[in-house]
Amino acid sequence: MSARILIIEDEDRIRQFLQRGLSFEGYRVDAAADGNAGLELARENPPDLVLLDIMLPGIDGIEVCRRLRQVSEVPVLMLTAKEAIEDRVAGLDAGADDYLVKPFAFDELLARVRALLRRVQPAQPQVFRFADLELDTGTRQGRRGERTFDLTAKEYELLELFMRHPRQVLTREQIFDTVWNYDFGGESNIIEVYVRYLRQKTEAEGGSRLIHTVRGIGYVLREE
Ligand code: CA
Repeated sequence: MSARILIIEDEDRIRQFLQRGLSFEGYRVDAAADGNAGLELARENPPDLVLLDIMLPGIDGIEVCRRLRQVSEVPVLMLTAKEAIEDRVAGLDAGADDYLVKPFAFDELLARVRALLRRVQPAQPQVFRFADLELDTGTRQGRRGERTFDLTAKEYELLELFMRHPRQVLTREQIFDTVWNYDFGGESNIIEVYVRYLRQKTEAEGGSRLIHTVRGIGYVLREE
């Protein structure tokens, strides 16, 4: 069963972005736009992790964190637009486990989320399989037939995204949002560059193409 994440964030754009991105990653996601609604959701569906904005209308994130802490040990990752050190200290004092300053890269948020969840639920390595391609989330290595290959951090993230969504056309924007950044850099060719790296690794020694270009849209993991 995937982890349940509760997002408490009043800014619609960020809340929806997080909700979409985390759901896409396979988490079960609940979201609230203010502290009281968030605390209520936390009671109804106890989360495995809370993403908590500090600046909220009504009761602020610091107070939400204090109240959560009275009833739960759930990991709390604070989101703050402020660089101010006092905010981070106040958040940590209130019982938050970590914080992230906005704007943040989505992959950094994911890394923090995974790290916090690992503390409470020891990682269960998983092997994704598609055709004769495998990806081991424990060793973070790929395997094609009998040949094992190493992956850089970004190559791994990109391949994991494809392996989680086989035969599904992933748009450039979905890929960029998930693997790279908060804002879509439409002119960037970074996706092409990394797809090329992955093709080199997965197609070495005569392997057939598995990552296909869908012209004008994005990419898809499928057999010829
Ligand atoms: Ca806010």
